[in-house]
Amino acid sequence: MNNPAQSLYSQIPSVDRLLNQPEMAVLLCRYGQHLVTESLRYLQERARQAITEEGRLPQWSQDWISAVSDDLAQKQRSGLQRVFNLSGTVLHTNLGRALLAEEAIEQVADVMRHAVTLEYDLDGAGRGHRDKVISELLKALTGAEAACVVNNNAAAVMLMLATVAADKEVVVSRGELVEIGGAFRIPDVMRQAGCRLMEVGTTNRTHLHDYRAAVNEQTGLLMKVHTSNYHIAGFTASVEDAALVALGRELNVPVATDLGSGSLIDLQQYGLPPEPMPQTLIAAGVDLVTFSGDKLLGGPQAGIILGSQYWIDKIQRHPLKRALRAGKLTLAALEATLRLYQQPDRLAYALPTLRLLSRDKAEMHTMAVQLLTPLQQCYGEQFMLAAEPCLSQIGSGSLPVDRLPSYALTFAPKNGRGSTLEALAEKWRALPVPVIGRLQEGKLWLDLRCLEDAADLLEALTA
Ligand SMILES: *Cc1c(COP(=O)(O)O)cnc(C)c1O
Repeated sequence: MNNPAQSLYSQIPSVDRLLNQPEMAVLLCRYGQHLVTESLRYLQERARQAITEEGRLPQWSQDWISAVSDDLAQKQRSGLQRVFNLSGTVLHTNLGRALLAEEAIEQVADVMRHAVTLEYDLDGAGRGHRDKVISELLKALTGAEAACVVNNNAAAVMLMLATVAADKEVVVSRGELVEIGGAFRIPDVMRQAGCRLMEVGTTNRTHLHDYRAAVNEQTGLLMKVHTSNYHIAGFTASVEDAALVALGRELNVPVATDLGSGSLIDLQQYGLPPEPMPQTLIAAGVDLVTFSGDKLLGGPQAGIILGSQYWIDKIQRHPLKRALRAGKLTLAALEATLRLYQQPDRLAYALPTLRLLSRDKAEMHTMAVQLLTPLQQCYGEQFMLAAEPCLSQIGSGSLPVDRLPSYALTFAPKNGRGSTLEALAEKWRALPVPVIGRLQEGKLWLDLRCLEDAADLLEALTA
């Protein structure tokens, strides 16, 4: 029995002994007996494995309490971790798109805590409709006759197509057969909704007579899709919504536009590139307009359908609406966001999306300069740091070409090696609040557009 491994095994303390150590009380209080015991058993197993495979106890086994504490902290960390979005893309789909306004956050917390009049009409004894309040707001803001809310814009497009043109043909320009990313491609959505896609025109040019020639007794809808994530330039032609509306009226076929992003305000007044507005399309007579809640609107993930009373009534009664309807958290956040649009003078600071998009590059420059010296002390040995101009993107398929002047902190490895840079990016992704930058031109860029508190970042990067 003088086997050296045997004596190593005997150094692994028992669960009971560890649980009874006074320092364990804090962990037991925080995580409870069940999770702590589970963690201890897991660590014991890892220690045995280390002995079998490497013939020694692992380094961490010098301090079991700390090992348990680290293990539990890591396992109990939320799957949706907060990060610093310094990627340069404001509406980053993989990072959750729009940040919500404080008003929306408070409203959501409130409806989570209490019973609410989600489908309850306090005036009459009757049952209310969950989209009612938001419909009223959207009608006032856009001039639409009616509105409908679902979980995202992909659902809005799907529901709209299934209601208006199931078993019928939908005419779309070849220049607008968009893929949004993920699995949202117009031809696939069309098929799923039970519609037959009738492509017209060419990739670069589609004319009104192309739409006219495609219409027959099978036609259920003329549809335009905003080419939100690409731009066709050069010898191009497309049909204005108003012209398509006139054709639809003449031939008695409804007209719809999937705007994708869609902004309820004219972005040019904030020095931003223009983006089509739903209200312009409604005024032009488009029967149905769909757009996202968490893109330029700056609200929660949601899909909005605006349109005529006739079509929205039909959409509200479609069985798919029940499957795609928004929950109270979404409706609360969306309502609070839309109320901000009733006070346009407050919008540029109250709505985070607009606040971040409209920041002047001088602001980011000041921050970059301020952060440079303290970060140089920490990283200067290995990296060349600089404050450099850069271009941010709006993201989420909005305005693919136009870019917003900004400032970044850049880190270039003094040894010129890409692997050093990769290691830095990896180290930052492993921080308690991970820092997400962008690798480009042999440097790691931290675009400061989405950073509002420089001290916050400094603490994360120098801890
Ligand atoms: C983004 C987008 C969609 C999908 O919207 P989600 O809210 O992400 O579901 C659909 N169509 C267009 C044109 C878009 O830009």
